[in-house]
Amino acid sequence: MAEFCLDCMNEMEGTHYTEENVELEMDLCEGCGQIKPVVVGFRRRGAARWREWLVSRVQIALWKWSSRL
Ligand SMILES: [Zn+2]
Repeated sequence: MAEFCLDCMNEMEGTHYTEENVELEMDLCEGCGQIKPVVVGFRRRGAARWREWLVSRVQIALWKWSSRL
C-alpha cells in the first residue's frame, strides 16, 4: 500500500487531517519522496494502541527537531 505524509495526503484527497486524526509512522512518503511521518491509519477513539502512538510521537518529535538543524 502506498504511504503518504499528511501534506501529500491532504493535497491529494482534498482533506484537512491533522496529526491528531491519524496514526503516523516514520517511513518513505511516496508523494514527496522523503522520510517523513506517513499516514498508516486513522485513529480510533479509545484505541488501545497508545504505546505505538507514543513511540511514533517521539519519533516525529525527533524528526522535527533534527530537520531544524
Ligand atoms: Zn509527502
